[in-house]
Amino acid sequence: MQALTNRAKAVNRRPMTFWERLYLPAIVRGLGITLKHFFKKKATVNYPEQKRPFSPVFRGLHILNRDEEGRERCTACGLCAVACPAEAITMEAAERQPGEEHLYREEKYAARYEINMLRCIFCGFCEEACPKDAIYLTETFAPSNYKRKGFIYGKDDLLIPFPEKAPEA
Ligand code: SF4
Ligand code: SF4
Repeated sequence: MQALTNRAKAVNRRPMTFWERLYLPAIVRGLGITLKHFFKKKATVNYPEQKRPFSPVFRGLHILNRDEEGRERCTACGLCAVACPAEAITMEAAERQPGEEHLYREEKYAARYEINMLRCIFCGFCEEACPKDAIYLTETFAPSNYKRKGFIYGKDDLLIPFPEKAPEA
């Protein structure tokens, strides 16, 4: 039959020689390759006991930052959500009430703030878009999870702890 392309390769169907039928030379050659790798530098690390150093530009899990007085910086302007190419960020804004000045820096704050880590591509555009220095990408991995819901990070997961209540955290 006429071939449709010129990619067809002719198969060599010559009979095997005596040494090829023995298979021993091929096995010895294979063992030699394995032995050679014993003395090479290992390409793997014993994670999690041993960790590779991060690149200086590594972008990991997000955090929502507070100001020097411990107030939430995010003003729910939505610029991070607009900048996000993966549409991973959603939020709901709320008005700051009298007496809440010690909690929220601006008159508006994010009552709900969520990032879908299954969508996020860790591009860092949200961090760049934020005019309030409220969102940062850290050098921490987003932990694995068995359920999709576990990858939706809310304010409880993202907001750094109140410095006076948990200075070590
Ligand atoms: S890092 Fe990129 S993809 Fe992830 S939430 Fe921010 S803007 Fe969206
Ligand atoms: S994190 Fe920054 S950009 Fe995003 S809503 Fe809050 S203040 Fe606006």
